[in-house]
Amino acid sequence: MLTAITGINWGDEGKGRMVDLLSEDYDIVVRYQGGNNAGHTVVNDRGKFILNLLPSGILRPDVVNVIGNGVVVDIKHLVGEINKLRGLGIEITPDNLKLSDRAVIVMPYHVDQDCLEEDRLADAKFGSTKRGIAPVYGDKYMKKGIRLGDLLDSEEDLKERLRAIIEWKNLLIEKGYGIKPIIFEDMWSYLKEYGDIVKDYVCDTGLYLNEANKEGKNIMFEAQLGALRDIDFGIYPFTSSSSTIAPYAPIGAGVPNLKLTNSVGIMKAYSTCVGEGPFTAEIFGDKAEELRKAGNEYGAATGRPRRVGGFDILASRYGVRAQGSDVIALTKLDVLSYMEEIPVCVAYKFGDQILDEFPIGEKLFKAEPVYEYKKGWMKDISGCRRLEDLPNEAIDYIKYLEEVVDCKIKYVSVGPERDQYIVMA
Ligand code: GDP
Repeated sequence: MLTAITGINWGDEGKGRMVDLLSEDYDIVVRYQGGNNAGHTVVNDRGKFILNLLPSGILRPDVVNVIGNGVVVDIKHLVGEINKLRGLGIEITPDNLKLSDRAVIVMPYHVDQDCLEEDRLADAKFGSTKRGIAPVYGDKYMKKGIRLGDLLDSEEDLKERLRAIIEWKNLLIEKGYGIKPIIFEDMWSYLKEYGDIVKDYVCDTGLYLNEANKEGKNIMFEAQLGALRDIDFGIYPFTSSSSTIAPYAPIGAGVPNLKLTNSVGIMKAYSTCVGEGPFTAEIFGDKAEELRKAGNEYGAATGRPRRVGGFDILASRYGVRAQGSDVIALTKLDVLSYMEEIPVCVAYKFGDQILDEFPIGEKLFKAEPVYEYKKGWMKDISGCRRLEDLPNEAIDYIKYLEEVVDCKIKYVSVGPERDQYIVMA
């Protein structure tokens, strides 16, 4: 079984929590895109964990975790994350963590460049998490990246490569932004310090995954951000710099020859968005604060308060289509339990036009939400484990969402803990 678990919305849908739950049936979990710029929060019987780079399967002792070639890897951050988890009793060795030799390394100058550019943009900033992700993906496509596999080459080869890249980079940094040049020796000692630790985990993960697939192992592909942050299909330019969608999963994992057997979309029962960019369904004031508190909507990586809104039909249906989801896991339904009426954004208004498909450009940036309200259930549902335990209004809401996004909702999550979910008939 080759399953992709992806986000339908703007991210923070609870993907980590669903991967943690569903990975029980999987032998391998692979991250296939993004870097350490987002956080997955996982709560299970071993504690509460925030993962930035490591696949969520790392919390299961018998699961092998892979960071694929589509990911960009901040090696200092990775070493820190591994040490932190080890401190919490999680065992991490080259047997349960494998890093693609083709994944590109995030260097300190990528982080600097990210900060310099956001500062230059000032009020027009993108809301970058300043982890160097856009600059490193830019360099990857300029063919100026250093890959994890390069750490296994001879020192002379790697030095030569690094020197050539720094020479080019300094043209931009020193002459463009007018700051001090990058010093080769600093970058070399950085690569040595952290590269020497991570290189034990580096291998041809595509080969490993192909062999595992032949042996009949179950592989799960884990996305880092939602469909609306995809570089091609998201709210460009307020997107991430990589492909977050399920069809990219085999490519970013290193197995472009394999086809997914199953695509599970994680969709939130309401909307949230971190940082800048168009977010039509956004609500403000007391109602927003109430929802933010109820859902504990503060960024896992940055602690930033998330923007919140009602469920957005246009964005979610579009997200389901971009992902090609076979089934959906609906998360955080319990958060809506305090609402007498549940707001749902059913259309966008642009001037005197009513839009019922997710737009791009000006229409997206200037649209206003058209809201309708569904009856709430006003009952704690976090203890429900079967469909029949849910109040009728909650079942009606689930059925309604299923219809408007045109995809079966198979799982409903009613709390952050591993067992707080319902499998739909
Ligand atoms: P991810 O990046 O998609 O994994 O999502 P985040 O980790 O950023 O955000 C999801 C948050 O919601 C985490 O704090 C989870 O523990 C929590 N969570 C996930 N599912 C549920 C749920 O069904 N109900 C509630 N109340 N919290 C949930």
